[in-house]
Amino acid sequence: MNDLFRLLPAFRRHARGLVFALLLSILTLAAGIGLLGVSGWFITAAALAGASLTFDLFAPSALVRGLSFLRIVSRYAERVTGHDATLRLLADLRTLVFRRLIPLAPGRLGRLGGGDLVSRLTGDVDALDTVFLLAIAPIATGLVMTALLALVLWAILPAAALALLAAAALAFLVAPFLLIRAGRTAGERLQGANARLRGAVVDAVEGHADIVAFAAEAAAGARFSAAADEAARARRGQATVAATGQAIVQAAAGLAMVAALAGGLGPLAAGTIAPATLVGVLLAIVALFEIAGPVMRGAARFGAAAAAARRIGALADLEPLVVDSAAPVALPDGADLRFEAVRFGYDPARPVLDGLSLAVAPGERVAIVGPSGAGKSTILHLLLRIMDVDAGRVTVAGADVRDVAQADLHRRVALLDQRAPVFIGTLGENLRIGDPAADDARLYDALDKARLGDFVRSLPDGLASWVGEAGQTLSAGQARRLCLARALLSPAAIIALDEPTAGLDPETEEAFFRDLAAAAAGRTVVLVTHAALPEGTVDRVLNLADRRLAGALGAVGPA
Ligand code: ADP
Repeated sequence: MNDLFRLLPAFRRHARGLVFALLLSILTLAAGIGLLGVSGWFITAAALAGASLTFDLFAPSALVRGLSFLRIVSRYAERVTGHDATLRLLADLRTLVFRRLIPLAPGRLGRLGGGDLVSRLTGDVDALDTVFLLAIAPIATGLVMTALLALVLWAILPAAALALLAAAALAFLVAPFLLIRAGRTAGERLQGANARLRGAVVDAVEGHADIVAFAAEAAAGARFSAAADEAARARRGQATVAATGQAIVQAAAGLAMVAALAGGLGPLAAGTIAPATLVGVLLAIVALFEIAGPVMRGAARFGAAAAAARRIGALADLEPLVVDSAAPVALPDGADLRFEAVRFGYDPARPVLDGLSLAVAPGERVAIVGPSGAGKSTILHLLLRIMDVDAGRVTVAGADVRDVAQADLHRRVALLDQRAPVFIGTLGENLRIGDPAADDARLYDALDKARLGDFVRSLPDGLASWVGEAGQTLSAGQARRLCLARALLSPAAIIALDEPTAGLDPETEEAFFRDLAAAAAGRTVVLVTHAALPEGTVDRVLNLADRRLAGALGAVGPA
């Protein structure tokens, strides 16, 4: 519940639309009550008048037509405005959640799977539509109309007003409260199961080749089925809660009508209430409970909304691993970098790097080699300040990376990560992430440097060719070269390359390294690689061992 209150500011921004929808919802219900009440009164009165010509048909039938027209129009407008405001609200929330995610990546998000994140952004945000459309608005509408109708009935037939108040208190206060409690567990299970379901799908799509290669389809299928079964059970639980609520409310509405009828028989016999009026009163009571259906559905699903709000809140509570200093200093011009006695460990008690020092001059190209898991990628991540050092410092152009704005640092230092993604879109769009202002000639220049230019020229659509999700229309090597071209397009003065040739065939790999000096001309390069480097690729090769770098001066030839 508290997590839902935390979302209030988002609701407040759409308050006007939501209040308007609420007023329309009240108008719709009022028209419905009026329609049924007047119709009951009109039909009864007309029947009792029989053939007598004194009964005025015109006014009541015009009223019935007017009310039914009003009800149609206001219901339509209410649906449009209510859904419009709610969808805008959800879009806001999604943006809000996404904004929170960006500074958390990649340091903080490792523990949450991709599927779980997608679920928080989509399913959990969607579950919040219940809050206004199915819970707050119908309950508020029910309560307002109860008060108005009770006032009217009090003047006509006090017994009916009392019966109405009792039944409405049950329908709009007691039952929702109980249903919200009863639906809590099912809601929690449902949001959890949905997250696991999405996780299973994302994992299966991403790891499809491995799943097939290791004949693990059955296990992947079982994981999916288990989550699907759990979601189905939770949904059934929710539906049971809602149906129970409906039954209770229908019974309450029926009892209220019977009680009003019983209370009305005396006045009817005494002649203090007209028969037609009594029928109108009874039908008006029935009409009020039309709104109870959405209330019960909403109350049963409220638990899921609360669980969703909690999952979103948990994401919002994660602190980014690194934050900009309150008063960042300007990053001086320059392309040199230094690591000074750096210590860092993902678990500070077990440092990956300790006492590591490194100085790279502007325009210098160094390679870092070493066994897998030695901490080579970690060095590059510290350079980009994805994490902060535990001791020592990292400087770029003489400034401690902790003192400058991250945006400035990332404009100066570009990273081609091991897992650099190809995004859905055209080749051109993928490249322009490196430099949005680059013209086609520059894109082809970068592609040529990454040895992908001829391939792109051979495509009928060239740079406008579409690359599918995760670059499925490219081979692994081509996808890699595309990411490389993107990194080369970046205007950054320092380029960090993490295994840039992984997945390339030996000829392309060698060609790439031969071209690197020209491609990166004038820029500082820090290259992490396992590959044998052709002569002249880099100025120095440094070996990472025992948590620090041992320098070997001069270039090395092919191994
Ligand atoms: P390399 O690039 O040399 O293969 P890494 O820098 O990727 O090595 O990793 C160095 C060590 O840190 C490894 O033991 C790895 O398991 C660990 N490590 C890497 N990333 C993380 C992380 N996000 N959380 C915890 N440990 C990590």
